[in-house]
Formats: sequence, structure tokens, C-alpha cells
Amino acid sequence: MTDKDPMQYARRQVLRVLAAGAATSAMPAVLRAAQVPSTGMQALLLGTQGGPNFNLVRGETASVVIIDKRLYMVDCGYGALAALVRANLNYRDVGQVFLTHLHDDHVADVVSLMGHQWTGGRVAQTTIYGPAGTRRLVAAAIAYNQVNEQIRLVDEARSARVADLFKAQEIAATTAPKVIFTDAELTVRAIENSHYPAESKQRTPQRSVALRFDARGRSIVFSGDTAYSANLVNLARGADVLVCEAMHVAATRVSFDERVKAGAYADNPEGIWAHIVGTHTPLDVAGRMAREAGVRTLVLNHIIPGGWEPTLDDEFYRREAAREFAGEIIVGRDGLAF
Ligand SMILES: [Zn+2]
Ligand SMILES: [Zn+2]
Repeated sequence: MTDKDPMQYARRQVLRVLAAGAATSAMPAVLRAAQVPSTGMQALLLGTQGGPNFNLVRGETASVVIIDKRLYMVDCGYGALAALVRANLNYRDVGQVFLTHLHDDHVADVVSLMGHQWTGGRVAQTTIYGPAGTRRLVAAAIAYNQVNEQIRLVDEARSARVADLFKAQEIAATTAPKVIFTDAELTVRAIENSHYPAESKQRTPQRSVALRFDARGRSIVFSGDTAYSANLVNLARGADVLVCEAMHVAATRVSFDERVKAGAYADNPEGIWAHIVGTHTPLDVAGRMAREAGVRTLVLNHIIPGGWEPTLDDEFYRREAAREFAGEIIVGRDGLAF
């Protein structure tokens, strides 16, 4: 890159304009995993990068809801397992995985979680919940892990079987909140969001959902990937926390152009750009949905472009969402608990 490089120039220009006036913000008052109180329901962001992409700042999308020692994963993108370890959480304790949809940036570590749980000696069943296609995905992950199983059954005289340890449970994508899971304390509800365009849904059975977790007097909603969604607003009504995907559109275009210049998306860059802007949530729209739902706190997640930090401070993202939402706004980071 030289000073005359047009992409570099564009990036500098855009960032200068976008960052103008952004005050340095203090890190929000949040808890790290080690400090999460043992009572109550907490959530921890494991990976906060939006899109099939990762960098040294953010891993792909994954979170975990924690009630005592029980771990309920929400999406499982690349880096999720390492992030659990960094948070001093044991991946063998994950009993349920809830997938909002089956894009690779939300499922890449499912196969890795399954392999390590089996090899690590988990014996209780782990259930993977997700929209249409989840059965096929889990069956393929079981087949992948059976190669490892074959040699270890012989060499280590193990008796547990991979196929017995993991179960897929497909969930419907409905237009009203639907209970998809309950245990003694937790209720999980799903609703279809607006990530997949209508024409796509005519051509594939795949669907995308938002998820709401209620336990111990607290409610946390995960938007999943979505454009503006009245269903999501309905699901999130009155919740304590809305964890919402968020995209800075102008900065995303600069980042996108840089990636194309570096050889990414070679088969159809403008088609991929249309997907990015048409199926995700600009920051002010995340704020709007938080306001309409009447939530107390908005946590920005699945950050696009992401990855430019720490040259960008949180204010760069926060102020766009604050145009529409007067409540508390926290810019998500890997390892952030609330
Ligand atoms: Zn995504
Ligand atoms: Zn997606």
C-alpha cells in the first residue's frame, strides 16, 4: 500500500469523516466471566465479528448463556471453543447448542465442539437445536467424528458412541414467539427473523430465527442475523437485554472494497454486497428495534465491519445506535459478560 493507493485513501477518508467528533469512551461497566455472580442468568459473548470472517480482535459469532455451571451456547462460529477456554469455562459442560441459522460463521465450531466433547469424555447427551437443516448438519458432524471414534474405540477401549452423544432438534421458524426448550429454570423461545429474503425461502427450506432466554427473573434476547424485523421486536418486548447484530454501513463498504481488492469474493462481489446490506441491521436500526421493544440494554454484536479495532473506539459504533435508542448501549467484545 502506498499513500497514493486509492483504497487506502478511501479508508483513511471514510474513517476520518466517520470518526470526527467521536469522543474517547470509557469501557462499559461489564463483568468478565470470572466475576460473573454465581446466581442469576448471565450471558457471555465468545465471538463478536460479523460475517464469515475473523481476526485478532474478534472471533466468529458465538455466545453462551450461563446458569450456575450449566452452559447453553447460542451459535458456535469459528473460535468459540477457544473463547470458552479463555473464559475459564469447560466445553464439556455445554449441554445445549442453539443455532440461529446455519451460515458457516455461526456453526463452524459445532463439529469441533462435538469432537472434543466425545474425546474429552462427556457422557451426557448434547442437543443441537436449530432451524431446518440442523439434522443434516449434525448427522454430517457425527460422520466426521466417527473417523476419530473408530481408532479410539480400538486403542482406548472406549464404550461411548459419538452417534449416541449428540442429538439434533429442528425448530420451526414461526411468526409468533414459540417455546422451543424448557428445563427446571430456563425457557427459550424462538421466532423467525428477517435474515433470509422471501425469494431464498422459496428455493430452500432454510430459515433463520431470533432467540429469547428467560430464567431467574431475567430475559436476554439474541437477534441472530437479521434485517429490521417486527418479529424480533415482538420477541424482545420488555426484555432486559437485546443482543443485536449491528453494521456500520459506510465503514463496511470501505472494508468490503479492501477485501475485494485483496482477492475476496471473486465470483460475485456485487451479489455478495447486496446480501450484506440487504440482510443485516444498520446500527441505527438496531437502536430503533431496541426502542420499539422497550428493552433496558442494547448489546451490539456480530459487528460489521469489526476487526479494525483498537484503532476505532466503542463510540464509533455506539453513537449510531444512540440516534434511535436512549437506553444503555454496550458495544460487544469477545469475552464480555453481562
Ligand atoms: Zn452471521
Ligand atoms: Zn447469516
